[in-house]
Amino acid sequence: MALKGSCHCGKTKFEIDGELPAALTRCTCSFCAKRGVLWAYYKPNQLRLLTPESDRAEYRWRTKNVAHYFCDTCGCGTYSDTPDLQPDGTWDGKTRRLGINARLFEEVNGFEAATYPVTVIDGKNGW
Ligand SMILES: [Zn+2]
Repeated sequence: MALKGSCHCGKTKFEIDGELPAALTRCTCSFCAKRGVLWAYYKPNQLRLLTPESDRAEYRWRTKNVAHYFCDTCGCGTYSDTPDLQPDGTWDGKTRRLGINARLFEEVNGFEAATYPVTVIDGKNGW
C-alpha cells in the first residue's frame, strides 16, 4: 500500500512506493531544527509526485549538495534530494536518496508523525 502525503494547501501531492520506516529521523542542524521536519528516507524512484515539479520552490545552503524543496504557495517543506551519505560520511558521488517530510503523510492506520518513534541525528555538529 502506497503512503500518501500532501502539503498544507494541496498544491504538492505525492505517493511513496514503500513502507513507513521503523523510526523517523529528526536532525539537529540549524535548518531542520527551525523547520521541525521529521524525515523518512527513500530511494528517488520510490517517490511519485502527483503534482507538477514547477510548483515546488528550492532552497540550498552551505554545501549546496542538498536540494530542499518546499511548496511555493503554503511554504511547507516537502522533500529533500540529498547525497546518499554512508554512516562513515563517505559518498560514491552519484547515489541520491530522498528525505520526505513525514509530517505531510496522511494520518491513516494510526500513524501520526508527532507520536511516531524518532531517531535523532547530530546534524548540528555533523554539517
Ligand atoms: Zn502548499
